[in-house]
Amino acid sequence: MKRRIYLSSPHMNGGEMKYIKEAFEQNWIAPLGPNVDAFEKSLAGYCGVKHAAALSSGSAAIHLALIMLGVEQGDKVIASSFTFSATVNPIVYQCATPVLVDSEPETWNMDPDLLEQALKEHREKSTKHRVKAIIVVHLYGMPAKMDEIMAIANKYGIPVIEDAAEALGSRYNDKPVGSFGKIAVLSFNGNKIITTSGGGALISDDIRLIEKARFLATQARDKAPYYQHSEIGYNYRMSNILAGIGRGQMQVIDQRVQKRRESHEFYYQHLKDVPGISFLKEPSGNFFSNRWLTTILVDPEKTGISCWDLQAECEKENIETRPLWKPMHMQPVFSSCPSYLNGISSELFLQGLCLPSGSNMTDEDRDRVLSVILKNIHYK
Ligand SMILES: *Cc1c(COP(=O)(O)O)cnc(C)c1O
Repeated sequence: MKRRIYLSSPHMNGGEMKYIKEAFEQNWIAPLGPNVDAFEKSLAGYCGVKHAAALSSGSAAIHLALIMLGVEQGDKVIASSFTFSATVNPIVYQCATPVLVDSEPETWNMDPDLLEQALKEHREKSTKHRVKAIIVVHLYGMPAKMDEIMAIANKYGIPVIEDAAEALGSRYNDKPVGSFGKIAVLSFNGNKIITTSGGGALISDDIRLIEKARFLATQARDKAPYYQHSEIGYNYRMSNILAGIGRGQMQVIDQRVQKRRESHEFYYQHLKDVPGISFLKEPSGNFFSNRWLTTILVDPEKTGISCWDLQAECEKENIETRPLWKPMHMQPVFSSCPSYLNGISSELFLQGLCLPSGSNMTDEDRDRVLSVILKNIHYK
């Protein structure tokens, strides 16, 4: 069997080991310490915001963001439907209701028109169970249309949480994603563009939000000589060992973005003229995607193969691919949530495939992926 090619696997070799070693030497084996502080600084600097709090996962970061924005039982939170479930699960942790908004075709992210429709309809209804936040996702690294979305959110006075879990290194209007909303979420899970094996962060210009996040993430301990708690807390802080990995990864983030963009360019150049295969383009010079995953749409009529069968063919060659994320409004667990749909994300789901995009892929790996795809396209 040929060596397995993964969708997106961890890629070490910044100074990770050096920082881990320092943590061992200083016995900073805890969910705080110098690596955590330095990792937070470098994240904030890179994302063009003032502050960051390193946490145990991106999901924990979204949960804390919702808590800090006052999301409670019976409230509503508007979220992109075309995303990974971790965007929406924390809304339900708070016993609030997700209101799912479909995509526009240019970036595949939240459709501003449907967002406005959702806000309009929910404003006219009850004032008690209010829309407390909007979670906008930058899926696969492609920035959402933040100018339009922020204008609408500001018009209705609703705070925006950016889910930039897949988009570290992406830019919109030459500003890093994660710097547009009130607060943003990053993830360092094993498959993301940089990883700490597992981890996440909240970033924001608002020091009060970030300090509050650190407080809640360390069991909400009051300032007292004994353990005293006036609020419900969580154990969501990042370990100083893992933050050491993160520091090392931040030294090479620009190279990682470049490599992923090169892979996208490779696939694009070799497949753009194949009838029935299309790509997600950066709609204009204002959009810069980190190209976390390269995605293609496969028209079964023109190519003679469905994306599912193409996935199976790749698997036979020990190549991992994956259909586009199944939209939340199509998920059994969220199917009863209110939703604002236009058919875009469900159509994307039926035709789209994520290709191996890891920054540690070799030229030979990419050639292998390309040849399996070309071999299985029948009507050339
Ligand atoms: C990975 C991911 C998350 C969650 O991050 P974890 O660190 O895995 O909890 C949230 N949203 C999106 C869009 C993601 O891809």
